[in-house]
Amino acid sequence: MTGQNPVFIPGPTNIPERLRRAMNIPTSDHRAPDFVNFMQPLLDDLKKVFNTRTGTVITFPGSGTGGWEASVTNTLSPGDKVLIARFGMFSHKWIDLCQRHNLDVEVIECEWGTGAPAERYAEKLKADTNHEIKAVLVTHNETATGVKSDIAAVRQAMDAASHPAMLYVDCVSSLGSMDFRMDEWGVDLAVSGSQKGFMLSTGLAIVGVSEKAMAACETAKCPRCYFDFRIMSNATATGGYPYTPVLPLMSGLRESLDMLLEEGLENVFARHFRIAEGVRQAVKAWGLKLCAVTPDLYSHTVSAIYVPDGFDSDSLTNHAFDKYQISFGVGLGEMAGKAFRIGHLGSMTVTMALSGIATIEMAMKDLGYPIELGSGVAAAQAYYRG
Ligand SMILES: *Cc1c(COP(=O)(O)O)cnc(C)c1O
Repeated sequence: MTGQNPVFIPGPTNIPERLRRAMNIPTSDHRAPDFVNFMQPLLDDLKKVFNTRTGTVITFPGSGTGGWEASVTNTLSPGDKVLIARFGMFSHKWIDLCQRHNLDVEVIECEWGTGAPAERYAEKLKADTNHEIKAVLVTHNETATGVKSDIAAVRQAMDAASHPAMLYVDCVSSLGSMDFRMDEWGVDLAVSGSQKGFMLSTGLAIVGVSEKAMAACETAKCPRCYFDFRIMSNATATGGYPYTPVLPLMSGLRESLDMLLEEGLENVFARHFRIAEGVRQAVKAWGLKLCAVTPDLYSHTVSAIYVPDGFDSDSLTNHAFDKYQISFGVGLGEMAGKAFRIGHLGSMTVTMALSGIATIEMAMKDLGYPIELGSGVAAAQAYYRG
């Protein structure tokens, strides 16, 4: 019976009952005078999750990809130079989006499994004495490889070069699950969505915009209409919305913020770390390798795990679904066939994680993987008991 089991994909994530109920609302009128009472506190609480006092949070119907597009088109002009590192499928897709908007994209090619190379960003920025680079783009948590990058180090590289470019961060699979500091890290655009750390259905792009980025809208010439920051922020400032909002999702977002803030963001991050560490202990016990090349890069929301030579990760995830009705993340891009992923973010507990570890372990054993049945579960249990 599918639907009874949790998913172990890194988005969309499991939707807790409390949020399913919150999204089940009757039709209401977004032009009614009480909409402002709903919208303003929602945006204020979102700022707490982004960790910004000076920034603005903007939501659009859409998903993370729409957030990428909004951040680029509102603040840049065709031909503008942007600097971005490619080390996984999501950074790759963001590059593609920039290219299709006719930006001049300088790509720092990195091995998949590594993170944003602050020192290579620094080199490029130092060499750019004419300040042609308008934007520096970084994927905080590369969901394809389970790699977390050091955003503060990239900001430091920019500051060390006294470079005025803006910093754009994809935090779709980290916001609300891992430490994120928009103001402290000097992030100008922070892109997220509703279906990962916020534990909701897909359908909202959620973007943090710094004052500098908002000012850039005045001169940016990329065409935009639906995703216009100024139209949206002016409308919500006066209690409106420029078109019909996704009210069920906004209602869910209200409840999601309540859940995150009730648990406390620090506790949410600690829970994600603990669950992730148990998964990593299991991987070690199986004798398998994570795609993330060093421990400082380990993501606390998703683990990408290489299958042994001669095995196909797609067969494994298919088998887990067919036989046990549980979804795990497939290998994406360069990782296709080579790695599977365990998503462990959002509405996730130690008990749920143990069920996922136990199931993928059975699936691997069924397919003749050289692992000992129970070894991963035992390693995770030992960690979780400690
Ligand atoms: C999920 C995800 C996205 C956006 O995907 P959508 O399907 O458009 O929401 C972007 N970047 C990262 C790192 C992601 O994990």
